Amino acid sequence: MQHIIDRFISYVTIDTQSDSTSNATPSTSKQWNLAKKLVEELKEVGMENVTIDENAYIMATLPSNIEKQVPTIGFISHFDTSPDFTATNVKPQIVRNYNGEDILLNKEKGIVLSPSYFDDLLLYEGQTLITTDGTTLLGADDKAGVTEIVTAMEYLINHPEIKHGKIRVGFTPDEEIGRGAHKFDVAEFGADWAYTMDGSQIGELEYENFNAAEAKITIQGKSVHPGYAKGKMVNAILIAHEFISLLPTEEVPQKTTGREGFFHVHHIHGEIESTTLELIIRDHDRKLFEKRKSDLQAIASKLNTLYSDCLSLEINDQYYNMKEKVEPVLHIVELAKEAMLSVGIAPIIKPIRGGTDGSQLSYMGLPCPNIFAGGHNFHGKYEYVPVESMQKAIEVIVKICELNATKNS
Ligand SMILES: [Zn+2]
Repeated sequence: MQHIIDRFISYVTIDTQSDSTSNATPSTSKQWNLAKKLVEELKEVGMENVTIDENAYIMATLPSNIEKQVPTIGFISHFDTSPDFTATNVKPQIVRNYNGEDILLNKEKGIVLSPSYFDDLLLYEGQTLITTDGTTLLGADDKAGVTEIVTAMEYLINHPEIKHGKIRVGFTPDEEIGRGAHKFDVAEFGADWAYTMDGSQIGELEYENFNAAEAKITIQGKSVHPGYAKGKMVNAILIAHEFISLLPTEEVPQKTTGREGFFHVHHIHGEIESTTLELIIRDHDRKLFEKRKSDLQAIASKLNTLYSDCLSLEINDQYYNMKEKVEPVLHIVELAKEAMLSVGIAPIIKPIRGGTDGSQLSYMGLPCPNIFAGGHNFHGKYEYVPVESMQKAIEVIVKICELNATKNS
């Protein structure tokens, strides 16, 4: 277990925060610091064909140790951390034999990680938790995933009695800014399918995510002296208000759950002369997703009729539900499920209310469900990970490799 802790800490103490305002890949040059270390480490544990390209995408191979041909499986995680919270100077704290009470993260600042607010903590009584010191995020998202994959490969290399086919490993930059899969060379990776190790709580197994689009509405108004405005002024702010009022009031993030979709107005900037409105559309169901987009078009044309074409609407699709691509090969989910059960984990299968690198990869031809990496409270100072969950994730990876070989031989 100390081995896992040491490896994890060696990753999270390297700042790899990504930056959505940069157009470079990786978006921040500091991501190279961990990328280069990972390349060396993959070589050290005995992986073969370890490569890193000009965009810092890392790939490596664990060759098959059986004669029979079985499908090649990939494991993928990302080594950047979220721009939402600082990752400079991460000082992990280790809480051994967690007693189920409040954890004082930072005495000076009075920052407490409490099960009365984060009741998931109580799942891990008696376990070893790694937390922050209350001033940074931890980076278990997704350095827990990286730790698990490297350690599982090392384990398989040290235990040649465990039979497996060819395994591919991929580590990407910039997942947190939605670009992790963008430059992933699926053909070069050459796996029949893969799993991202990037979920949260132990047991999570996900192969459904949102269909996602973003919309930008620009309204052109006419500013006139208010005393002489009758019949002349066009107030772009009020038209934006009207646009919002025509959206379904119950279909917003704060009132929906499970597979319920929504419109989320997240930005408005306006004057009488010109106002812009930005919103996102999310729905697991592709038909409802398309309907949401056409509903927006309908609102736009209604207001354009009322206010002489003052409004323009631009909608861009962002990603799609991977379910469409995974369902035809559902055995890859069954395999992960079976692996979890055989190492004593109850699978928690639920739709993701977001996207993953796996959804993009699935549409790029690499079906890619998501498996838990173990951490909680991502993207902030309350982030923590139980070491036992990382240990279990390692066992799941090993078991998937083993089952794939025995099932197919
Ligand atoms: Zn992640």
